[in-house]
Amino acid sequence: MVYFIGAGPGDPELITVKGKKHIEEADIVIYAGSLVNKELLKYCKPSAQIYNSAGMTLDEVLKIMVKGVKEGKKIARLHTGDPSIYGAVREQMDALDRHGIQYKVIPGVSSFLATAAALKKEYTLPGVTQTVILTRMEGRTEVPSEERIEALAAHKATMVIFLSIGMIDELVSRLKAGYEENTPVAVVYKASWPEQKIVRGTLADIAGKVRAEGIKKTALVVVGNFLGDEYELSKLYDKSFSHEFRSARE
Ligand code: SAH
Repeated sequence: MVYFIGAGPGDPELITVKGKKHIEEADIVIYAGSLVNKELLKYCKPSAQIYNSAGMTLDEVLKIMVKGVKEGKKIARLHTGDPSIYGAVREQMDALDRHGIQYKVIPGVSSFLATAAALKKEYTLPGVTQTVILTRMEGRTEVPSEERIEALAAHKATMVIFLSIGMIDELVSRLKAGYEENTPVAVVYKASWPEQKIVRGTLADIAGKVRAEGIKKTALVVVGNFLGDEYELSKLYDKSFSHEFRSARE
């Protein structure tokens, strides 16, 4: 059996109890070395074979998995954050299907969630926005033209932009096609790691601030008025509003 495990955003305590258990039990551990915190490897048993997938191709990763499973070994494949977000996990799962190998996915805390926690903000504020867009700018991987930043920005929803900090100037100019120039923006570098940095600004000044901080990778850009201070109170905790678990009070 292969376990695809969301290793969380960085802080080794932000893996799930189940994810940690599978690392402890694994005979083979393959981790995405560019972003997975190596502290997590301390949970491995001493006899575990450990591979860093950073310098490996898909075929090489698969070869280790297929051979290991044939030998009756238990395999933990660690992905940063949650595997479902830019995890390149689907191609691995489909290949395992073709080999008739069973696998399970253990979700993780994505960096976009650790970013909201670092900022102490809520992405979905009543009266502001009820939608979160997770996206990226095109790099070596293309983005469908319907999803270009300008088109998404037109919704003025909360937007979380992955894999794009290195293109912050272009990103900001394209965001301005939809959002007002004074819309708040935050950049969180290495959310939940000891070296975490937060840069706050607006679309007008964030690019310069990011450059001044020297942030070039491992950061998320979050945009929207959820970062502001104007919103409506929730209906969930409104005393004049009743719901399944609570009746209205005076
Ligand atoms: N599956 C991961 C994302 C992988 S793509 C997840 O769920 O978080 C890699 C990109 O994620 C990086 O370029 C960066 O934009 C973002 N990222 C990953 N870890 C991060 C962290 N701790 N803080 C800020 N951004 C992070």
